[in-house]
Amino acid sequence: MAVQCNSILILWRACIGRVVGILFGVAIASAAATGPSLADGLYFSEVAVNYRAVNDRLRAKGWIEIVNKSDKPVDLGSYRLRAWGLNRRGRLSDAPLTFALPQKVLPPGGYHVLAGKLFDALKGNDKSSYIVSDDGRYFPYWSDAAGFVELLSADGKTVDFVRFGTETTAPITLGSWTGKSVPAFPAIANYQPSQSMDPLDNYDRSIVRRAAEFRTTGTKEDWTHVAFPTPSGPNDVPPEAVDADKDGIPNTAKVAGGTFAGLDLYAMGARPGQRDLFIHLEHLQGTNDPGLVPQRAALDKVVQAFKGHNIHVHFDVGNLFGPALTPADYNLSGDISFERPFIKCTQLPRGAADAEKGCSSLYEYSSDRFDVRRRPIFRFGLLASSQLQSGEKGKSGRSELPGNKFLVTLGQWRLSTQGEQRKNVLTNFQAGTIMHELGHTLGLRHGGFEDGNYKPNYFSIMNYLYQLRGLPASAAGMGPTQRYYYTWNHTFHSPVPGHGTAESYRLCDVPDGPCLATMIIDYSDGSGKSLDEAALDERQNIGRGADADAFADWNLNAGVDANTYARSITGDQGPLRVLRDHDDWSALTLVSGRSYATALQAKRHADPDCRTAPRAPASRLRCWSAPSSARIVVEPTPPIGLFNDLQRMEQERR
Ligand SMILES: [Zn+2]
Repeated sequence: MAVQCNSILILWRACIGRVVGILFGVAIASAAATGPSLADGLYFSEVAVNYRAVNDRLRAKGWIEIVNKSDKPVDLGSYRLRAWGLNRRGRLSDAPLTFALPQKVLPPGGYHVLAGKLFDALKGNDKSSYIVSDDGRYFPYWSDAAGFVELLSADGKTVDFVRFGTETTAPITLGSWTGKSVPAFPAIANYQPSQSMDPLDNYDRSIVRRAAEFRTTGTKEDWTHVAFPTPSGPNDVPPEAVDADKDGIPNTAKVAGGTFAGLDLYAMGARPGQRDLFIHLEHLQGTNDPGLVPQRAALDKVVQAFKGHNIHVHFDVGNLFGPALTPADYNLSGDISFERPFIKCTQLPRGAADAEKGCSSLYEYSSDRFDVRRRPIFRFGLLASSQLQSGEKGKSGRSELPGNKFLVTLGQWRLSTQGEQRKNVLTNFQAGTIMHELGHTLGLRHGGFEDGNYKPNYFSIMNYLYQLRGLPASAAGMGPTQRYYYTWNHTFHSPVPGHGTAESYRLCDVPDGPCLATMIIDYSDGSGKSLDEAALDERQNIGRGADADAFADWNLNAGVDANTYARSITGDQGPLRVLRDHDDWSALTLVSGRSYATALQAKRHADPDCRTAPRAPASRLRCWSAPSSARIVVEPTPPIGLFNDLQRMEQERR
């Protein structure tokens, strides 16, 4: 292989094949098959590139798509894949290897994608499989610059072959490929992958045999470079397609009659001129715990929060609210249940690790029933119970930052549909936590551009001051101070005005708070002025104006201070800082499964003081934040006072 080995695939396990009847109908291109594989009618139709290798050799991943162009079902298990192999230490095989394919039946016109089985939790389904070499040590490998894949029949003859870049390997059956190789994939500078370890979460570039002109001449002329990979469906996005509104969906797939991998996104609610954000939301069976089941009012709340910013959120919760595909019922799948069996513990492990014993992994759900055709477009969320092996109440969620998967775990929180207040708490906690975890996948941190939490002037559901308490109806009133009081009373265990002992501020006493249907969830627009902890002025409130008599009570003395003073107001033990707001709405990265470099680059702050300040000023008023890196965000367990409050509400109801 004429390329440096700059990546690696790790730890795969033998794939347990299973025969699956496949029942989806897809358009079969009419062009006559004239290439080397007439007898079988099985072809490669897409090879996705492996850009992850650019930044991290342990994350090399790619995938290939196979289509059945014949008029009869074909069992993939009769074929083998030939390619270079890479072992878990990053060593390239001495010669190309062959890999067994799973026993899965492709109907006429059916598609299937194959990728490396990096770890146990990757499951596969009727449209996708994860594979590994016979000895379990190697994974199929190609780089951006060179590679080949070959499909072999049971008797070892070439069924199909494609070669690209500087690759020189010849097919087993000579003559199956003639002429030059397909051009290499373009290099991408500053590539930043998501945290996902699933190769089928990689959607940067592909070469395809286009559905509209499916050519099988066994030359580079058959293949087209495209910027919108379409896994396990027809390659129906034209190479010249663009994504004008930068939501990851090509314009061609947003119009009536347009498709993406055969999916009708228009029927699901996508439209030109609006940014569309699709979320596949599954849940565990929650017979006695409504915290696990999507609440319509909670989904409504999230949809409304985005709508004002021309972002249309399309949840799919299967047939929970109705059996037919009806976007208004959050059903984009028809009569299919998204409910999974209850398990007390679910995790999103880092890297290629598996979940702890007794816990399921979010990867199991996202790699199993989640239609792989949706993966370049949809984010995947799961409402599960707990992240603790014990199954006890705890952390509210976990997310890829940025990425396409998030976990919400509000199980055992004593959430209930009984009584108006408790119903509102359920709705608001679920809505606020979904929007918060979703926000991480869109690139937001607890301080917007930074991890620094509890900045009162960062007026966002991403901020722990506001995630479960909501944003006050007025940023200029006493609402922010009341949330500051609540946080200091519970999280920082301090008496506060009106609540003379620690952990005594009741949830339902928070004005405009979670016990009311009107609680607001939102991201920040970045319009708040900075708060300098070295010179706090309570009359500035949180930098968004102050009503008459309203003030910020940072020093908890129940009155407005005439003079400025110094104090840490985030609970942070470090040096005093200038706290900055962040324009979340302008920063959201809706595109999923591609390079996240844009989401993680250095950000200039919206603060008016920064408009004229030079880059990286010497003063404390820093106008630029450093570039961030991708990671998995784990929420801490909320303060015990919150759980005590929920327990009290339950007892009072009895
Ligand atoms: Zn968070």
